[in-house]
Amino acid sequence: TAEWMSAYCLTEPTAGSDAMSLRTTATPSEDGSHYILNGTKQFITNGGWADVYIVFAKVNGEKMTAFIVERNTPGVQVGKEEYKLGQKGASTTSITFENVAVPKENILHEIGKGAEVAFNSLNIGRFKLGAADLGGCKAVIKEAVAYTLERWQFGQPIAYFDALKRKFAEMVVNTYAMESILYRTAGMLDDSISQVAPDSPNYFSEVANAIESNAIECSICKIFGSETLWKSADDGLQMFGGYGFVEDYPMARLLRDARIERLYEGTNEINRQVITGYFLKKTILEILPIRETIQRIPKIAEGELPAFDGVLKNEMQALELAKAAALLLFHHALVKYGQDVLNEQQLGEVLSNLFIDLYVMDTTLNRVKQHPDAPDENDVRVKIARVLCGEKIPELFMRVEESLYAILNGKSLEQAIQRLTQLKSHLNNHYNLFQLKREIAEELYHHQEYWL
Ligand SMILES: Cc1cc2nc3c(=O)[nH]c(=O)nc-3n(C[C@H](O)[C@H](O)[C@H](O)COP(=O)(O)OP(=O)(O)OC[C@H]3O[C@@H](n4cnc5c(N)ncnc54)[C@H](O)[C@@H]3O)c2cc1C
Repeated sequence: TAEWMSAYCLTEPTAGSDAMSLRTTATPSEDGSHYILNGTKQFITNGGWADVYIVFAKVNGEKMTAFIVERNTPGVQVGKEEYKLGQKGASTTSITFENVAVPKENILHEIGKGAEVAFNSLNIGRFKLGAADLGGCKAVIKEAVAYTLERWQFGQPIAYFDALKRKFAEMVVNTYAMESILYRTAGMLDDSISQVAPDSPNYFSEVANAIESNAIECSICKIFGSETLWKSADDGLQMFGGYGFVEDYPMARLLRDARIERLYEGTNEINRQVITGYFLKKTILEILPIRETIQRIPKIAEGELPAFDGVLKNEMQALELAKAAALLLFHHALVKYGQDVLNEQQLGEVLSNLFIDLYVMDTTLNRVKQHPDAPDENDVRVKIARVLCGEKIPELFMRVEESLYAILNGKSLEQAIQRLTQLKSHLNNHYNLFQLKREIAEELYHHQEYWL
């Protein structure tokens, strides 16, 4: 009913990214009616205002468990407000628990199942963080368009300089792509959760599993959202020139506020590891049909591709080739390292970036293709999809090539590069991206805000 504000207390001074190493303890009272909590939580959003805290602690030093703790319980101490770079309107404090007696009825879910609660809250949080970033991008675009159409230099509004058109077009392209993955992921989460029977005796565990089945997509929303917002805010600030650096203008705050998005709900480094980890798991468990696609790579390289039609057929074909290129690298990574690939962090980051870009392109292309207006060449959505794939696909091939050189040598390197070159030879999504970007920017100036 929104009468009470809550806070999520997982992070500790010595347990940040490595959240499972938390030290807060929950010791059963002698009569078994309570648990006694001791420990300190760090960087708690709403810490200073919350009425109730969800606290993760280890029962008997090992079973991670979630507890519902009311603020006014004796022994709960709220630390001082952190003086932060951005998001200054939010309360961020430490919370210390000193012999805090919590009734056993306040266990959230079950003893030892705290990780299920913690990580699925994070999955949903990551998806929602992406949605918040979408709002941030729209705000950046609106402020920057208004300013640059009014600001004159060299006898014209600066918005009409080609360099600024490029920046605006990239903001629109990535914002549209971000919106697309958010819609798709929202639908996937809804579908998964709605398959859980409401009267199931294990309803909450099953909902947790349903959410977890979309963990890759939630992390993608978080990473793509936060990095798109950061890049847009930085470009937006640049367009304000020196005024961008001055707090009287909106860009400085937008940039400062955007920075935290890459850090919390799991840093983007950790989220990239989540993506690669789940991708590997789903491959091994054959939840994703990766093996079959890997087996088809030689045929794809010979040009055996599905017959696509419509205005975006070249992009759809390029996407199939890009998927094959990414899986070529994934295959060699698995052959060389097996499950230890997760310890090869540079390679893991490349793989997760490939998966992010493939999801972003696949989703955006399908959104445009399925649009009820059946967009043609002149539709801005088609131009957006062209620019997105026109930039991401060559970059993807380059990253695959770089990584193959890093992990292979001799004959196997030669063969892998040959295969990659063969795949690349079928790409034919070549357009005048400079012109497409000009046209996207001009349409933005007409609407003066994100309009799609
Ligand atoms: C404003 C704000 C609000 C927050 N709100 C909450 C909240 O409400 N509840 C809550 O529980 N927490 C909250 N946090 C905590 C936040 O989730 C953590 O700060 C974050 O998870 C990172 O932990 P850390 O700061 O200890 O950094 P560290 O874990 O020390 O990481 C430092 C750097 O090392 C990198 N790194 C760490 N481990 C690895 C690895 N295995 N591989 C590669 N790189 C690695 C990280 O990516 C990062 O770049 C908040 C933080 C801030 C700043």
